[in-house]
Amino acid sequence: MPSIRHSYTVTVPEEPPAPAFPFIKQDARRKSPTMSRSMLVSTFVGLLINQAKNSKNAQGLVGLRNLGNTCFMNSILQCLSNTHDLRDYCLRNTHRTDLNNNCRAKAALMDEFAKLTQTIWTSASNDAISPSDFKMQIQKYAPRFVGYNQQDAQEFLRFLLDGLHNEVNRVTVKPRALVEDFEHLSEDEKGKRMWNKYLESEDSKVVDLFVGQLKSSLTCSECGFCSTVFDPFWDLSLPIAKTSGEVSLIDCLRLFTKEDVLDGNERPTCHRCKTRRKCTKKFTIQKFPKVLVLHLKRFSECRVRTSKLSTFVNFPLKELDLREFASENSVNAVYNLYAVSNHSGTSLGGHYTAYCRNPCTAEWYTYNDSRVSPMSSSQVCSSDAYVLFYECATSSRL
Ligand SMILES: [Zn+2]
Repeated sequence: MPSIRHSYTVTVPEEPPAPAFPFIKQDARRKSPTMSRSMLVSTFVGLLINQAKNSKNAQGLVGLRNLGNTCFMNSILQCLSNTHDLRDYCLRNTHRTDLNNNCRAKAALMDEFAKLTQTIWTSASNDAISPSDFKMQIQKYAPRFVGYNQQDAQEFLRFLLDGLHNEVNRVTVKPRALVEDFEHLSEDEKGKRMWNKYLESEDSKVVDLFVGQLKSSLTCSECGFCSTVFDPFWDLSLPIAKTSGEVSLIDCLRLFTKEDVLDGNERPTCHRCKTRRKCTKKFTIQKFPKVLVLHLKRFSECRVRTSKLSTFVNFPLKELDLREFASENSVNAVYNLYAVSNHSGTSLGGHYTAYCRNPCTAEWYTYNDSRVSPMSSSQVCSSDAYVLFYECATSSRL
């Protein structure tokens, strides 16, 4: 990674926003000892959201300092900061209620994440802030993030969401895994039962937002027997078709859900034939999440020599219709894009940035570590796009 020195200046769209709420400043907070920090923040949230809606000066336009190769982290943090339901969860301190309800004292990662989100959205100035306290917590949770090596943004997102989920999981005592026979049920009912079973042990705001359910169908080529498996997913890793030209996101999804033949050593055991048979396997989406994270597999999985595909993947900003990938007829399968984590450069060295649509103004901004600048929505789709954040159109507020 080339050493990138960023100036700590922030570009703002028009004139710099006036400090709308000077009382949130550190010194002011100390002068009002009767008001707790959480009270102050929750009182502030309503005002902030209203103010941001009515004002041309959108909040949340605060850069994050690069602590040394931490652009992968900054890029993902900005995408999550612009995930309005998660942002509101942090601003309202709802995570505290979830924590109190399950009597756990340790929630350092969620606390730091919420604190960082609150700082981004309540900061009176647009000066870049340091995510060092947050970094301390994520590396405690996942020691692979100790130090200042370049990391993969999608892997970081997985670790972070998993960490946040574990701390605010509404389930404190996980039920014993019982083997239940759902074979007599309809496919739809089976999917629902499997989903409820999942929620019995994994249930949090993070799951509410990001987790969907994938159905995998295995069909025997001899007897035609079809067995199905339902698995939760936190994101979908999409292969990119090898081509000299550009491909579309739908092409990637079609490749991901394409019928796959399992033969030779891969032959699974057919439940009806009771022997290993050549089978076909196919994925469909059983349950669409509110926030759909699509990861474009630009890096080859071979760890010895990684290479990067810089194929231009054309993706829509609005009305990504995924109904053709649904297991059943589904109405909630149309999505709008609100954030992209970009990777420029090669597999050996590169740089991460984020493009995010502000949830209050619907304007797009580039987040390049400390710098935040406005951009045209026509520039959002580029060959650097790496992780796409879509929200379900029916839950969109814009
Ligand atoms: Zn069979």
